[in-house]
Amino acid sequence: DRMSISAAKSSSAVRRKPPPVKRRETPPSSDQESWEQRSSEEAEDEDEDADSHDITKILSKLPKGVDLQSARQILNDIVVRGDEVHWDDIAGLEGAKKALKEAVVYPFLRPDLFSGLREPARGMLLFGPPGTGKTMLARAVATESKSTFFSISSSSLTSKWHGESEKLVRALFGLAKVLAPSIIFVDEIDSLLSARSSGSEHEASRRSKTEFLIQWSDLQRAAAGREQSARDKKEGDASRVLVLAATNMPWDIDEAARRRFVRRQYIPLPEHHVREQQLRKLLSHQHHELSDEDTEVLVHVTEGFSGSDITALAKDAAMGPLRNLGEALLHTPMDQIRPIRFEDFEASLYSIRPSVSPDGLRKYEDWARDFGERG
Ligand code: ADP
Repeated sequence: DRMSISAAKSSSAVRRKPPPVKRRETPPSSDQESWEQRSSEEAEDEDEDADSHDITKILSKLPKGVDLQSARQILNDIVVRGDEVHWDDIAGLEGAKKALKEAVVYPFLRPDLFSGLREPARGMLLFGPPGTGKTMLARAVATESKSTFFSISSSSLTSKWHGESEKLVRALFGLAKVLAPSIIFVDEIDSLLSARSSGSEHEASRRSKTEFLIQWSDLQRAAAGREQSARDKKEGDASRVLVLAATNMPWDIDEAARRRFVRRQYIPLPEHHVREQQLRKLLSHQHHELSDEDTEVLVHVTEGFSGSDITALAKDAAMGPLRNLGEALLHTPMDQIRPIRFEDFEASLYSIRPSVSPDGLRKYEDWARDFGERG
């Protein structure tokens, strides 16, 4: 039903990439229009017929027991189309990019090379302070590995309101196999796999955690064995489905679940040269008067800022030239708007502060040392 669909929409952070199975030249682009909506509303249109045909075909490949309504919901709201992210859009994080290429992108593009000892891991955890590019990395992985990208936040899987989260989990994994190669990206994985949710938390979230772990194990087993029966083959390629998860609170994940992520990649705050790269990129198409020395000062004072803090700072500073115009803003020609100045950044630095405290940062560093990979 529409209500639950819009609820899932607001909880999944990013979406829309060209339909994985499509015949149209251009993907359905408007944010308001879903794939399925269009196909039912414009049934006259040949292209739309193709789409609904594709959906029917996809659904027909799902194993018995997968709820079709949930599957449609996933196709509509969880499969990401459009707004592609590429490696170059992400400042720094060279180590993480390298690890992801090796663990996901190359195996997906050359499955023949990555078997036996080279069998890729079925899960990878990206952890670190908020706003450091974990979501961007996951999206870049999907783009670069030409995979279907399923993006879901834990809260939409555990919400009591859904009450149907187990079905959703099953449909998610079922579709991922049918549409393989696939990346299942779970944001805020801590809330799904937390130690607490196995205890007193309400039944629904405990059940979706269990279902998630079962589905994920099946995937691991199928991929490791590779001895897929004809029936399994019809239901998709389990060896090319990977769970990528992100968390700002890795210590909340219970131990058993943590061990299942063979790879745990630390996504740290940006270093000096990465902040410089990001600031320069943000300013590159702007009318500004910052000298190299000004930029250097900014790079220094933004120590401890995350990538998203830096973006927020630059956006706020860019508003500087407009702020004192008042109503004149409405009729001042573009070429008379003054350039962005260093002073705008100085002013913005009063309100835009780093989102992680030094104490908070230490917690990440400790966890990374105990359980993570750096780079
Ligand atoms: P996370 O998932 O780690 O919380 P996101 O990937 O959602 O963070 O990043 C939030 C926003 O911050 C991005 O949309 C982008 O504008 C900016 N950002 C964060 N890290 C980077 C980075 N490494 N390079 C470029 N932009 C970044």
